[in-house]
Amino acid sequence: MIGRQIQEIRTELAAAARRCGRDPAGIKLIAVSKHFPVAAILAARAAGQTVFGENYLQEAADKRALLPNDVELHLIGHLQSNKAKAAATLFTMIHTIDRFKIAAALNRYLEEEQRHLDVLVQVNVGRDPKKAGVLPEDAEALLDRLATLPNLRVMGLMTMPPYNEDPELSRPCFRELHRLAETFRQLGLFAAGAPPELSMGMSHDYRIAIEEGATMIRIGTAIFGERY
Ligand SMILES: *Cc1c(COP(=O)(O)O)cnc(C)c1O
Repeated sequence: MIGRQIQEIRTELAAAARRCGRDPAGIKLIAVSKHFPVAAILAARAAGQTVFGENYLQEAADKRALLPNDVELHLIGHLQSNKAKAAATLFTMIHTIDRFKIAAALNRYLEEEQRHLDVLVQVNVGRDPKKAGVLPEDAEALLDRLATLPNLRVMGLMTMPPYNEDPELSRPCFRELHRLAETFRQLGLFAAGAPPELSMGMSHDYRIAIEEGATMIRIGTAIFGERY
């Protein structure tokens, strides 16, 4: 069941990419496994899925201890600065940086360990008061400050539009995130090298996110089923 859903999403991802002239290889599928047990993650891994998104630190730590080393976890939930050390050990990427304080705490720990960590800045492009993320007009100033932290590599931006039944209503948010990323790229605010990552699109709106340039889609329900 989970394996079949993974295959189906991969097929859909490739079709959506081709429809807009993009290379499907440039879009990474992140399977969001929050609230699902290790057995579900292992079922997805058997279908070739190796990157998983988790929202909660303790849940991720409990699962990590039981998972093979080739499974990568990304933090897609809120992070408190007193949990920076645990987060830096558990995750290969953190998608939810939205304040300097948490970034500085991560950097301090990484410096001690002489390590680097890839992060994304979460932007609240939908200006949803219930959602985390830096407001678009404050994002440039935050990225400027993050550039002073040598052990963090800011790879791109992430967003979560306000939920709406109609996925078309997510499009303006995705487009705005893409536009912001392009502006910040031109200002040299991302880690050098590849074009910026755009983490956007979930089960109901990932096709639209792909049309608007997503390089990472975060899919939970469409792979694992409803969360309880
Ligand atoms: C839970 C979650 C997802 C996955 O949502 P689905 O609608 O189940 O695909 C994606 N991103 C974030 C930040 C989440 O918290």
